[in-house]
Formats: sequence, structure tokens, C-alpha cells
Amino acid sequence: MTEQDGKHPALKILEDLVSIQSVNPHYGNGACGEGEVADYIERRFQGTNVRVTRQPVFPGRDNLLIELRTGHPESTLLFETHMDTVSIGSMADAVTPIYRGDRLYARGACDAKGSLAGMIWAIEECAKHPERLMSDIVLCAAVDEEHEYRGLRVFMDRNMPVAGAVVGEPTELGIVVAHKGCARFAVETLGKAAHSSMPEEGDSAVYQMVHVLQFIKHVMEPELAKQRHPLCGSPTIVAGTIAGGTQVNIVPEHCSIELDRRIIPGELPEDAIADFERRLQEYIDSEGLHVNISFRELLLDWALETPQDSEIVAHAQKVAQALELRTDLLGVTYGSDASKLQRKGIPTIVYGPGSIAQAHSKEEWVSVHEVERAAQFYYQLALSFHLPR
Ligand SMILES: [Zn+2]
Repeated sequence: MTEQDGKHPALKILEDLVSIQSVNPHYGNGACGEGEVADYIERRFQGTNVRVTRQPVFPGRDNLLIELRTGHPESTLLFETHMDTVSIGSMADAVTPIYRGDRLYARGACDAKGSLAGMIWAIEECAKHPERLMSDIVLCAAVDEEHEYRGLRVFMDRNMPVAGAVVGEPTELGIVVAHKGCARFAVETLGKAAHSSMPEEGDSAVYQMVHVLQFIKHVMEPELAKQRHPLCGSPTIVAGTIAGGTQVNIVPEHCSIELDRRIIPGELPEDAIADFERRLQEYIDSEGLHVNISFRELLLDWALETPQDSEIVAHAQKVAQALELRTDLLGVTYGSDASKLQRKGIPTIVYGPGSIAQAHSKEEWVSVHEVERAAQFYYQLALSFHLPR
């Protein structure tokens, strides 16, 4: 490749990273997991003044911790992102970096190896002159973000003191300080089976579920639309799956739906489920309906709202301004590891190259220009970050 000359070093790291398949094993056969990416990062830092530690999460799947200790542990800046990707799907040439104009195409290029490459480069640069830094810098390259966030949880169990954190996910170089969380749960209705030639002997769980769906559409949705967070918009609810009945000539005994309720900052996921249950019961009572219902929690994830006066936000804005990048504070509708860190009391922003629209897509790509700018942003932030003295 001739355009290789004069290329930003973070792009060469990104090329190496996307050339290693690291599909999360949750996505089934042929998924390699994060092991080789961890080996690659470890090799880059071997024999340097940067400490590399492996943190076992699953067999053969370790978080990699990169620590540049400069004598300022009270002011540690954490970079956190993930090494796994979603499945290759129908993407062609998914593990070969292909350039077209300003775009680099490959699985993981955007989510989140563009961020990871920039963070690796930033620490390599900082390690050349650690005496200039006013904080310790730690990179946690985590496993399993694309499934159950186990990697981040294991990292947090260590309780490393951290003064501010940047989570690398595609934000198109916007400083994200707020995002939604979610409460996923199943609603089941229970009826009574009967032969369809004698439906009066049975009680259809599917017809019961119609009442629940009416409630979601006509009561819950308008109710949620009335709430609004200035950066994240309104909470939402989606019935993503429905299943009921066993065969055409039997009155269905069971029906179930799975709901994805997206919460806004200020809401708690467990409260969102409790609130749904309470309102649904009120609706059933007031309409005099017959519904036999049960609930099952599937997944809870918190929303992010980072105090806008925290040091990490102030430093991020200063660096963005110096690099002539956007400085306004943003909210997004998707979730990230940032809310888990913030919940532990670590002020956290999300920042990275690429757009969430390209993450997980059939044609994943990242803007080359944005990768270079993000790398500079991480580097300058690492250089300047410190707590007030
Ligand atoms: Zn991601």
C-alpha cells in the first residue's frame, strides 16, 4: 500500500488490530475471542517503562491493563475500551483493512478498535516523556463488552483509584456526558389450554396479551413521551419479541413478550420495571380486564449523567478547543461502559472516532481523519489532565 508513507502511527496500529479477528465468543462458531489482540498489545509494551498486567476474566480471555505510573496515583486518568467485536456477519473482507477515500473498512474498525488504536498510541507517546505528565495513565482493554460487560466488571472489582475516565466508543469526536440505559424484561400471560373446537373451555393467553400491548401502545408510550432529558430525549419502550401458543387447534395457554425500556438519566432500571408493573395493574383494574400476568427481569443497565463541572469534562473541553474540535457536551441514546464507571463515582466521558451508525453494520468503517484526531485528543488529554492542586 503506497499511501502507508506519512500515515499517522495510530492508523498503523488500527490496521494491525483489525487484521486480528476478535469476535466475541458469544457470537458462536468461528469467533476467536480477544486473546490475540491482548497478545498484540502486550508485545507492543514489552521491555518499556509501561507495566502490562493480565486480568483473567474467562479462560483464554484476559483484560489487558497498561499502566504508565508517573508518581501521581491520586490523579489517575483511565482510558477504557474493548477488544471484542460483534460477528463478521455478511461483511466481506472483514479482517483486511481496506481504504476507500477517508474511510477504513473492517469489522471493529469503528467499534471500537479506532478508539483502542488511538489510546495505545497516546500512551506510547506519553511513555517517551513521563516526566511531563501530571497524572498516572491507565488503559484497560477489556473483554466481553459486546455481550455481558464481564471484562469491565472484573476491572472494577479491583477498585483502582481513578480520578477521571474516557470510554472509547464511536461518538464522532463529540464529548458525550449522558446516555440512556435500559431495563429489559419479559411479560408473560397465563391462560388455559382447550381444544379449539370447544374454545369456551379455555382461556386464551394471546387475547390476554392483546390488553398488555394496548396498554403499552396507548398508555405507556404517550406517558414516556411526556418525559424528556435535555441531552438524551425521551425514554422509550419497544416490544421486541412475541411468542404464544403451541399449535393452530389449541387455545393458547402461554404468551410472552420481551420489552426493551430505554431509561433516561434520573431513572433507575429497576424502578422502570416496577413502574410498568404498577401502571399495568392500574390499567387492568380500571378497565375491568381479565389478565393473568407475571414478569421476568432480563437485563438492567444504568444511564449515564456525568456532572458537567467535573475535571474530566473541563479538561476534555479545553483539549478539544485547542485542537479545534467540537466542545459542546452531548447525549446519546445507546449505552456504554461509562455508566458503570460513573456509578462507582468515577467521572467519565465517552469519546471516540466513528459513528454508532457504522458500528455493528454490514459495512463497518471509520473515518481515517477522525482516528487521527481522536488519537491526538487522547494524547493531549493525557498530557494535560490533573486534579486541582
Ligand atoms: Zn463498542
